[in-house]
Amino acid sequence: MSRSREETIKEMKTKGYDVLVIGGGVTGACIARDAALRGFTCACVDKNDWAFGTSSRSSKMIHGGIRYLEMFDFKLVFEACRERRQLLLNAPHLVYPQPFTFPIYKGDKNGIFMIESGLMFVIPRGHFALIGTTDTYYHEDLDNPFATREDVEYILEAANDILPRAHLDKADIISTYAGLRPLAMQEGGEDVATGKVSREHRIYQGRSGMLTIAGGKLTTARSMAEEMMDLVQMKLLKEFKVRAKRGCVTKNRPILHVPAPDTEARVRALSAKLKFDDDILFGLFKQGTEALSVLALCDEDPSLAEPLGPTIPNIKAQVRFAAESEMARTVDDFLVRRTEIYYIAPDQGLGVAPEVARIMGDLLGWDADEGKRQVEAYKRTVELSRRYAT
Ligand SMILES: Cc1cc2nc3c(=O)[nH]c(=O)nc-3n(C[C@H](O)[C@H](O)[C@H](O)COP(=O)(O)OP(=O)(O)OC[C@H]3O[C@@H](n4cnc5c(N)ncnc54)[C@H](O)[C@@H]3O)c2cc1C
Repeated sequence: MSRSREETIKEMKTKGYDVLVIGGGVTGACIARDAALRGFTCACVDKNDWAFGTSSRSSKMIHGGIRYLEMFDFKLVFEACRERRQLLLNAPHLVYPQPFTFPIYKGDKNGIFMIESGLMFVIPRGHFALIGTTDTYYHEDLDNPFATREDVEYILEAANDILPRAHLDKADIISTYAGLRPLAMQEGGEDVATGKVSREHRIYQGRSGMLTIAGGKLTTARSMAEEMMDLVQMKLLKEFKVRAKRGCVTKNRPILHVPAPDTEARVRALSAKLKFDDDILFGLFKQGTEALSVLALCDEDPSLAEPLGPTIPNIKAQVRFAAESEMARTVDDFLVRRTEIYYIAPDQGLGVAPEVARIMGDLLGWDADEGKRQVEAYKRTVELSRRYAT
Protein backbone atom coordinates (compact mmCIF):
# COMPACT_ATOMS: atom_id res chain seq x y z
CA MET A 1 0.00 0.00 0.00
CA SER A 2 1.63 3.22 -1.03
CA ARG A 3 -0.33 5.42 1.39
CA SER A 4 -1.51 4.84 4.90
CA ARG A 5 -5.21 4.53 5.66
CA GLU A 6 -5.04 7.75 7.69
CA GLU A 7 -3.52 9.66 4.74
CA THR A 8 -6.17 8.29 2.39
CA ILE A 9 -9.03 9.27 4.72
CA LYS A 10 -7.53 12.75 5.18
CA GLU A 11 -7.31 13.19 1.43
CA MET A 12 -10.88 11.99 0.96
CA LYS A 13 -12.14 14.66 3.34
CA THR A 14 -10.77 17.49 1.21
CA LYS A 15 -10.54 16.19 -2.36
CA GLY A 16 -13.50 16.00 -4.69
CA TYR A 17 -14.04 12.90 -6.86
CA ASP A 18 -15.78 12.36 -10.17
CA VAL A 19 -17.19 9.06 -8.95
CA LEU A 20 -17.92 7.77 -5.43
CA VAL A 21 -18.66 4.06 -5.17
CA ILE A 22 -20.47 2.96 -2.01
CA GLY A 23 -19.82 -0.71 -1.27
CA GLY A 24 -16.61 -2.61 -2.00
CA GLY A 25 -17.97 -6.03 -2.89
CA VAL A 26 -17.21 -7.43 -6.34
CA THR A 27 -19.70 -5.09 -8.02
CA GLY A 28 -18.33 -1.94 -6.38
CA ALA A 29 -14.72 -3.02 -6.91
CA CYS A 30 -15.35 -3.61 -10.63
CA ILE A 31 -17.09 -0.25 -10.97
CA ALA A 32 -14.25 1.58 -9.19
CA ARG A 33 -11.68 -0.13 -11.41
CA ASP A 34 -13.62 0.65 -14.58
CA ALA A 35 -14.05 4.30 -13.51
CA ALA A 36 -10.34 4.73 -12.73
CA LEU A 37 -9.33 3.13 -16.04
CA ARG A 38 -11.59 5.55 -17.93
CA GLY A 39 -9.55 8.33 -16.32
CA PHE A 40 -12.08 9.49 -13.72
CA THR A 41 -11.00 10.29 -10.19
CA CYS A 42 -12.78 7.74 -8.03
CA ALA A 43 -13.14 6.76 -4.38
CA CYS A 44 -14.61 3.49 -3.15
CA VAL A 45 -15.81 3.06 0.43
CA ASP A 46 -17.15 0.12 2.40
CA LYS A 47 -18.68 0.12 5.86
CA ASN A 48 -16.74 -3.02 6.70
CA ASP A 49 -13.92 -4.94 5.01
CA TRP A 50 -13.65 -5.33 1.23
CA ALA A 51 -15.98 -8.15 0.14
CA PHE A 52 -17.43 -8.40 3.66
CA GLY A 53 -20.91 -8.96 2.21
CA THR A 54 -22.13 -11.54 -0.26
CA SER A 55 -18.98 -11.52 -2.39
CA SER A 56 -16.90 -13.39 0.20
CA ARG A 57 -19.82 -15.72 0.96
CA SER A 58 -20.50 -16.92 -2.57
CA SER A 59 -19.59 -20.34 -3.96
CA LYS A 60 -16.99 -18.52 -6.08
CA MET A 61 -17.73 -20.47 -9.22
CA ILE A 62 -17.28 -18.59 -12.44
CA HIS A 63 -19.96 -20.34 -14.40
CA GLY A 64 -22.06 -19.91 -17.47
CA GLY A 65 -25.26 -20.37 -15.49
CA ILE A 66 -26.79 -23.18 -17.54
CA ARG A 67 -29.52 -23.52 -14.95
CA TYR A 68 -30.84 -20.06 -15.84
CA LEU A 69 -31.95 -21.51 -19.17
CA GLU A 70 -34.73 -23.03 -17.09
CA MET A 71 -35.89 -19.46 -16.43
CA PHE A 72 -35.37 -18.45 -20.07
CA ASP A 73 -32.62 -16.02 -18.97
CA PHE A 74 -30.80 -16.37 -22.31
CA LYS A 75 -29.19 -12.96 -22.02
CA LEU A 76 -27.70 -13.80 -18.63
CA VAL A 77 -26.35 -17.15 -19.82
CA PHE A 78 -24.75 -15.52 -22.86
CA GLU A 79 -23.24 -12.76 -20.70
CA ALA A 80 -21.97 -15.24 -18.09
CA CYS A 81 -20.35 -17.52 -20.71
CA ARG A 82 -18.62 -14.55 -22.32
CA GLU A 83 -17.37 -13.23 -18.98
CA ARG A 84 -16.14 -16.66 -17.95
CA ARG A 85 -14.04 -16.82 -21.11
CA GLN A 86 -12.57 -13.38 -20.42
CA LEU A 87 -11.84 -14.14 -16.77
CA LEU A 88 -9.89 -17.27 -17.71
CA LEU A 89 -7.68 -14.97 -19.79
CA ASN A 90 -7.59 -11.93 -17.52
CA ALA A 91 -7.21 -13.62 -14.12
CA PRO A 92 -5.66 -17.05 -14.84
CA HIS A 93 -4.16 -17.36 -11.35
CA LEU A 94 -7.58 -16.99 -9.74
CA VAL A 95 -9.93 -18.59 -12.25
CA TYR A 96 -9.18 -22.11 -13.40
CA PRO A 97 -11.26 -24.90 -14.89
CA GLN A 98 -12.74 -27.40 -12.51
CA PRO A 99 -14.15 -30.73 -13.73
CA PHE A 100 -17.87 -30.91 -13.20
CA THR A 101 -20.55 -33.49 -13.68
CA PHE A 102 -23.79 -31.91 -14.80
CA PRO A 103 -26.02 -34.92 -14.67
CA ILE A 104 -28.66 -34.21 -13.39
CA TYR A 105 -29.84 -37.40 -11.84
CA LYS A 106 -29.64 -38.19 -8.19
CA GLY A 107 -26.77 -40.57 -7.50
CA ASP A 108 -24.12 -39.20 -9.85
CA LYS A 109 -20.62 -39.23 -8.46
CA ASN A 110 -19.62 -35.65 -8.22
CA GLY A 111 -20.37 -32.12 -9.25
CA ILE A 112 -23.81 -30.58 -9.40
CA PHE A 113 -26.98 -32.39 -8.46
CA MET A 114 -30.58 -31.43 -8.95
CA ILE A 115 -32.63 -31.93 -5.81
CA GLU A 116 -36.26 -31.08 -5.51
CA SER A 117 -36.52 -27.39 -6.26
CA GLY A 118 -32.88 -26.43 -6.51
CA LEU A 119 -29.33 -27.43 -7.31
CA MET A 120 -26.88 -29.05 -4.96
CA PHE A 121 -23.22 -28.23 -5.41
CA VAL A 122 -20.41 -30.44 -4.19
CA ILE A 123 -17.32 -28.43 -5.02
CA PRO A 124 -13.87 -29.84 -4.37
CA ARG A 125 -11.79 -27.34 -2.35
CA GLY A 126 -8.36 -28.74 -1.65
CA HIS A 127 -8.74 -31.49 0.94
CA PHE A 128 -12.38 -30.62 1.54
CA ALA A 129 -15.66 -30.17 -0.28
CA LEU A 130 -17.95 -27.19 -0.25
CA ILE A 131 -21.56 -28.37 -0.18
CA GLY A 132 -24.60 -26.19 -0.71
CA THR A 133 -26.78 -24.35 -1.18
CA THR A 134 -30.19 -23.61 0.22
CA ASP A 135 -32.17 -20.77 -1.24
CA THR A 136 -34.50 -19.32 1.36
CA TYR A 137 -35.83 -15.96 2.52
CA TYR A 138 -33.92 -14.41 5.41
CA HIS A 139 -35.29 -11.89 7.90
CA GLU A 140 -32.58 -11.51 10.56
CA ASP A 141 -29.45 -9.35 10.92
CA LEU A 142 -28.48 -8.46 7.35
CA ASP A 143 -24.84 -7.80 8.23
CA ASN A 144 -24.23 -11.16 9.90
CA PRO A 145 -26.17 -13.90 8.14
CA PHE A 146 -25.50 -17.43 9.37
CA ALA A 147 -26.42 -20.98 8.38
CA THR A 148 -29.33 -22.15 10.52
CA ARG A 149 -29.88 -25.64 11.91
CA GLU A 150 -32.58 -26.18 9.26
CA ASP A 151 -30.15 -25.15 6.47
CA VAL A 152 -27.49 -27.54 7.72
CA GLU A 153 -29.86 -30.46 8.26
CA TYR A 154 -31.38 -29.98 4.80
CA ILE A 155 -27.97 -29.92 3.14
CA LEU A 156 -26.72 -32.97 5.06
CA GLU A 157 -29.82 -34.91 4.15
CA ALA A 158 -29.58 -33.96 0.49
CA ALA A 159 -25.83 -34.67 0.41
CA ASN A 160 -26.33 -38.12 1.96
CA ASP A 161 -29.07 -38.80 -0.53
CA ILE A 162 -26.73 -38.25 -3.47
CA LEU A 163 -23.51 -39.48 -1.80
CA PRO A 164 -24.85 -42.31 0.39
CA ARG A 165 -21.47 -43.89 1.01
CA ALA A 166 -20.07 -40.69 2.52
CA HIS A 167 -22.29 -41.01 5.65
CA LEU A 168 -21.95 -37.31 6.35
CA ASP A 169 -23.03 -35.94 9.68
CA LYS A 170 -22.54 -32.78 11.71
CA ALA A 171 -19.17 -34.00 13.03
CA ASP A 172 -17.79 -33.81 9.48
CA ILE A 173 -18.53 -30.11 9.18
CA ILE A 174 -15.60 -27.74 9.58
CA SER A 175 -17.28 -24.47 8.80
CA THR A 176 -20.55 -23.06 7.52
CA TYR A 177 -21.45 -19.73 6.04
CA ALA A 178 -24.40 -17.94 4.54
CA GLY A 179 -24.72 -15.04 2.14
CA LEU A 180 -27.62 -12.89 1.01
CA ARG A 181 -28.22 -12.67 -2.70
CA PRO A 182 -28.79 -9.09 -3.82
CA LEU A 183 -31.64 -10.06 -6.15
CA ALA A 184 -33.55 -7.43 -8.10
CA MET A 185 -37.16 -8.35 -7.24
CA GLN A 186 -40.01 -7.75 -9.66
CA GLU A 187 -42.76 -5.59 -8.20
CA GLY A 188 -45.27 -7.83 -6.44
CA GLY A 189 -42.79 -10.71 -6.61
CA GLU A 190 -42.48 -11.22 -2.85
CA ASP A 191 -44.13 -14.63 -3.02
CA VAL A 192 -41.79 -16.02 -5.67
CA ALA A 193 -39.23 -18.59 -4.40
CA THR A 194 -35.77 -16.95 -4.34
CA GLY A 195 -34.41 -19.71 -6.56
CA LYS A 196 -36.83 -18.57 -9.26
CA VAL A 197 -36.03 -14.85 -9.12
CA SER A 198 -33.99 -13.75 -12.11
CA ARG A 199 -30.26 -13.22 -11.45
CA GLU A 200 -30.17 -10.43 -14.02
CA HIS A 201 -29.01 -7.10 -12.64
CA ARG A 202 -30.87 -3.79 -12.70
CA ILE A 203 -29.76 -0.19 -12.44
CA TYR A 204 -32.01 2.31 -10.67
CA GLN A 205 -31.77 6.05 -10.35
CA GLY A 206 -32.98 7.57 -7.07
CA ARG A 207 -34.52 11.03 -6.68
CA SER A 208 -31.18 12.51 -5.66
CA GLY A 209 -29.62 11.24 -8.87
CA MET A 210 -27.66 8.48 -7.13
CA LEU A 211 -27.40 5.33 -9.24
CA THR A 212 -27.81 1.92 -7.65
CA ILE A 213 -27.01 -1.45 -9.22
CA ALA A 214 -28.38 -4.70 -7.81
CA GLY A 215 -28.60 -8.34 -8.83
CA GLY A 216 -26.18 -10.09 -11.14
CA LYS A 217 -23.46 -12.57 -10.30
CA LEU A 218 -19.85 -12.66 -9.29
CA THR A 219 -19.24 -13.96 -12.81
CA THR A 220 -20.85 -10.98 -14.52
CA ALA A 221 -19.54 -8.20 -12.25
CA ARG A 222 -17.18 -6.79 -14.89
CA SER A 223 -19.85 -6.39 -17.54
CA MET A 224 -22.28 -4.99 -14.94
CA ALA A 225 -19.63 -2.39 -14.11
CA GLU A 226 -19.18 -1.57 -17.78
CA GLU A 227 -22.89 -0.92 -18.17
CA MET A 228 -23.02 1.16 -15.01
CA MET A 229 -19.99 3.25 -15.98
CA ASP A 230 -21.33 3.84 -19.54
CA LEU A 231 -24.31 5.45 -17.85
CA VAL A 232 -22.19 7.39 -15.34
CA GLN A 233 -19.88 8.60 -18.12
CA MET A 234 -22.88 9.93 -20.04
CA LYS A 235 -24.31 11.64 -16.95
CA LEU A 236 -20.98 13.18 -15.94
CA LEU A 237 -20.58 14.71 -19.38
CA LYS A 238 -24.15 15.92 -19.69
CA GLU A 239 -24.71 17.20 -16.17
CA PHE A 240 -21.20 18.19 -15.01
CA LYS A 241 -19.20 18.60 -18.23
CA VAL A 242 -16.70 16.06 -16.87
CA ARG A 243 -15.14 14.12 -19.71
CA ALA A 244 -13.67 10.61 -19.62
CA LYS A 245 -10.21 10.06 -21.08
CA ARG A 246 -11.42 6.89 -22.77
CA GLY A 247 -14.25 4.37 -22.82
CA CYS A 248 -14.33 1.00 -21.08
CA VAL A 249 -11.07 -0.95 -21.32
CA THR A 250 -11.65 -3.76 -18.82
CA LYS A 251 -12.80 -6.48 -21.22
CA ASN A 252 -9.38 -7.57 -22.42
CA ARG A 253 -7.30 -6.17 -19.60
CA PRO A 254 -5.61 -8.55 -17.17
CA ILE A 255 -6.27 -7.76 -13.53
CA LEU A 256 -3.40 -6.54 -11.32
CA HIS A 257 -0.67 -9.00 -10.34
CA VAL A 258 -1.35 -11.55 -13.08
CA PRO A 259 1.71 -13.81 -13.05
CA ALA A 260 4.43 -13.05 -15.59
CA PRO A 261 5.76 -16.00 -17.64
CA ASP A 262 8.56 -16.63 -15.12
CA THR A 263 6.60 -16.00 -11.89
CA GLU A 264 5.58 -19.58 -11.24
CA ALA A 265 9.12 -20.92 -11.70
CA ARG A 266 10.56 -18.21 -9.41
CA VAL A 267 7.96 -18.83 -6.70
CA ARG A 268 8.52 -22.57 -6.98
CA ALA A 269 12.32 -22.22 -6.66
CA LEU A 270 12.16 -19.89 -3.65
CA SER A 271 9.51 -22.06 -1.99
CA ALA A 272 11.64 -25.17 -2.48
CA LYS A 273 14.52 -23.46 -0.68
CA LEU A 274 12.19 -22.64 2.21
CA LYS A 275 10.73 -26.20 2.13
CA PHE A 276 7.12 -25.09 1.72
CA ASP A 277 4.61 -27.88 1.15
CA ASP A 278 2.25 -28.01 -1.84
CA ASP A 279 -0.65 -26.39 0.03
CA ILE A 280 1.44 -23.31 0.86
CA LEU A 281 2.76 -23.20 -2.70
CA PHE A 282 -0.77 -23.36 -4.13
CA GLY A 283 -1.82 -20.43 -1.91
CA LEU A 284 1.18 -18.40 -3.05
CA PHE A 285 0.35 -19.01 -6.72
CA LYS A 286 -3.06 -17.45 -6.12
CA GLN A 287 -1.31 -14.22 -5.15
CA GLY A 288 0.16 -13.88 -8.66
CA THR A 289 3.24 -11.63 -8.82
CA GLU A 290 2.58 -10.55 -5.24
CA ALA A 291 3.82 -13.97 -4.11
CA LEU A 292 7.30 -12.62 -4.82
CA SER A 293 6.69 -9.69 -2.47
CA VAL A 294 5.57 -12.14 0.21
CA LEU A 295 8.72 -14.19 -0.32
CA ALA A 296 10.84 -11.03 -0.16
CA LEU A 297 9.47 -10.48 3.36
CA CYS A 298 10.78 -13.94 4.30
CA ASP A 299 14.17 -12.87 3.01
CA GLU A 300 14.15 -9.80 5.27
CA ASP A 301 12.96 -11.74 8.30
CA PRO A 302 13.37 -15.55 8.12
CA SER A 303 10.92 -16.07 11.03
CA LEU A 304 8.16 -14.94 8.64
CA ALA A 305 8.79 -18.03 6.47
CA GLU A 306 7.35 -20.25 9.22
CA PRO A 307 3.92 -21.77 8.57
CA LEU A 308 1.26 -20.22 10.79
CA GLY A 309 0.43 -23.66 12.19
CA PRO A 310 0.81 -27.37 11.35
CA THR A 311 -2.53 -27.63 9.51
CA ILE A 312 -2.55 -24.11 8.09
CA PRO A 313 -1.61 -23.60 4.42
CA ASN A 314 -0.26 -20.09 5.06
CA ILE A 315 2.99 -18.59 6.30
CA LYS A 316 3.51 -15.74 8.74
CA ALA A 317 4.74 -13.42 5.99
CA GLN A 318 1.23 -13.52 4.50
CA VAL A 319 -0.17 -11.95 7.67
CA ARG A 320 2.31 -9.12 7.45
CA PHE A 321 1.70 -8.69 3.73
CA ALA A 322 -2.08 -8.58 4.23
CA ALA A 323 -1.78 -5.81 6.83
CA GLU A 324 0.86 -3.91 4.88
CA SER A 325 -0.41 -4.21 1.32
CA GLU A 326 -3.95 -5.65 1.25
CA MET A 327 -5.69 -3.31 3.71
CA ALA A 328 -6.41 -6.06 6.26
CA ARG A 329 -7.25 -4.27 9.53
CA THR A 330 -8.55 -7.04 11.79
CA VAL A 331 -7.80 -10.66 12.61
CA ASP A 332 -11.16 -11.44 10.97
CA ASP A 333 -10.06 -9.73 7.75
CA PHE A 334 -7.04 -12.00 7.53
CA LEU A 335 -8.52 -15.33 8.60
CA VAL A 336 -11.82 -14.99 6.70
CA ARG A 337 -11.15 -12.79 3.65
CA ARG A 338 -7.39 -12.71 2.88
CA THR A 339 -7.01 -16.47 3.33
CA GLU A 340 -9.32 -19.49 3.57
CA ILE A 341 -8.26 -20.43 7.10
CA TYR A 342 -11.72 -19.81 8.58
CA TYR A 343 -13.21 -22.23 6.03
CA ILE A 344 -10.67 -25.04 5.96
CA ALA A 345 -8.57 -25.21 9.14
CA PRO A 346 -9.90 -27.96 11.44
CA ASP A 347 -10.26 -25.42 14.29
CA GLN A 348 -11.15 -22.61 11.84
CA GLY A 349 -7.93 -20.84 12.84
CA LEU A 350 -8.83 -20.23 16.50
CA GLY A 351 -5.44 -21.64 17.53
CA VAL A 352 -3.46 -19.24 15.34
CA ALA A 353 -5.61 -16.15 15.94
CA PRO A 354 -3.33 -14.85 18.78
CA GLU A 355 -0.25 -15.15 16.53
CA VAL A 356 -2.07 -13.39 13.69
CA ALA A 357 -2.99 -10.63 16.16
CA ARG A 358 0.63 -10.36 17.28
CA ILE A 359 2.00 -9.96 13.75
CA MET A 360 -0.73 -7.55 12.67
CA GLY A 361 -0.51 -5.66 15.96
CA ASP A 362 3.26 -5.11 15.58
CA LEU A 363 2.61 -3.41 12.29
CA LEU A 364 -0.60 -1.57 13.16
CA GLY A 365 0.48 -0.46 16.64
CA TRP A 366 -2.02 -2.49 18.73
CA ASP A 367 -1.48 -2.75 22.48
CA ALA A 368 -2.04 -6.05 24.33
CA ASP A 369 -5.71 -5.21 25.02
CA GLU A 370 -6.44 -4.53 21.37
CA GLY A 371 -4.80 -7.83 20.43
CA LYS A 372 -7.10 -9.63 22.90
CA ARG A 373 -10.16 -7.78 21.60
CA GLN A 374 -9.29 -8.84 18.07
CA VAL A 375 -9.01 -12.50 19.05
CA GLU A 376 -12.32 -12.31 20.97
CA ALA A 377 -14.02 -10.75 17.94
CA TYR A 378 -12.74 -13.59 15.79
CA LYS A 379 -14.09 -16.14 18.28
CA ARG A 380 -17.52 -14.57 17.86
CA THR A 381 -17.27 -14.91 14.08
CA VAL A 382 -16.45 -18.60 14.47
CA GLU A 383 -19.28 -19.04 16.99
CA LEU A 384 -21.73 -17.66 14.43
CA SER A 385 -20.62 -20.31 11.94
CA ARG A 386 -21.31 -23.00 14.57
CA ARG A 387 -24.62 -21.63 15.72
CA TYR A 388 -26.49 -24.30 13.76
CA ALA A 389 -25.30 -26.82 16.34
CA THR A 390 -26.90 -25.07 19.34
C1 LIG B 1 -24.59 -18.65 -1.29
C2 LIG B 1 -24.26 -17.87 -2.55
C3 LIG B 1 -23.51 -18.47 -3.54
C4 LIG B 1 -23.19 -17.75 -4.71
N1 LIG B 1 -22.42 -18.36 -5.64
C5 LIG B 1 -22.08 -17.71 -6.77
C6 LIG B 1 -21.23 -18.33 -7.72
O1 LIG B 1 -20.79 -19.46 -7.53
N2 LIG B 1 -20.93 -17.64 -8.85
C7 LIG B 1 -21.39 -16.38 -9.09
O2 LIG B 1 -21.09 -15.84 -10.14
N3 LIG B 1 -22.17 -15.75 -8.18
C8 LIG B 1 -22.52 -16.37 -7.02
N4 LIG B 1 -23.31 -15.76 -6.08
C9 LIG B 1 -23.76 -14.38 -6.32
C10 LIG B 1 -22.66 -13.38 -6.01
O3 LIG B 1 -21.96 -13.77 -4.83
C11 LIG B 1 -23.25 -11.99 -5.81
O4 LIG B 1 -24.01 -11.65 -6.94
C12 LIG B 1 -22.16 -10.92 -5.63
O5 LIG B 1 -21.20 -11.31 -4.68
C13 LIG B 1 -22.79 -9.60 -5.22
O6 LIG B 1 -21.76 -8.67 -5.02
P1 LIG B 1 -22.09 -7.18 -4.61
O7 LIG B 1 -20.80 -6.44 -4.66
O8 LIG B 1 -23.20 -6.66 -5.44
O9 LIG B 1 -22.64 -7.29 -3.12
P2 LIG B 1 -21.80 -7.50 -1.77
O10 LIG B 1 -20.67 -8.43 -1.96
O11 LIG B 1 -22.80 -7.80 -0.70
O12 LIG B 1 -21.14 -6.08 -1.52
C14 LIG B 1 -21.82 -4.99 -0.96
C15 LIG B 1 -20.84 -4.26 -0.05
O13 LIG B 1 -21.44 -3.03 0.32
C16 LIG B 1 -21.11 -2.75 1.66
N5 LIG B 1 -22.14 -1.82 2.12
C17 LIG B 1 -23.46 -2.05 2.27
N6 LIG B 1 -24.08 -0.93 2.68
C18 LIG B 1 -23.12 0.03 2.78
C19 LIG B 1 -23.16 1.39 3.17
N7 LIG B 1 -24.29 1.99 3.53
N8 LIG B 1 -21.99 2.08 3.17
C20 LIG B 1 -20.82 1.47 2.81
N9 LIG B 1 -20.76 0.20 2.44
C21 LIG B 1 -21.89 -0.53 2.43
C22 LIG B 1 -21.09 -4.10 2.35
O14 LIG B 1 -20.26 -4.11 3.49
C23 LIG B 1 -20.53 -5.01 1.24
O15 LIG B 1 -19.13 -5.22 1.34
C24 LIG B 1 -23.65 -16.42 -4.91
C25 LIG B 1 -24.40 -15.81 -3.89
C26 LIG B 1 -24.70 -16.53 -2.72
C27 LIG B 1 -25.48 -15.86 -1.64
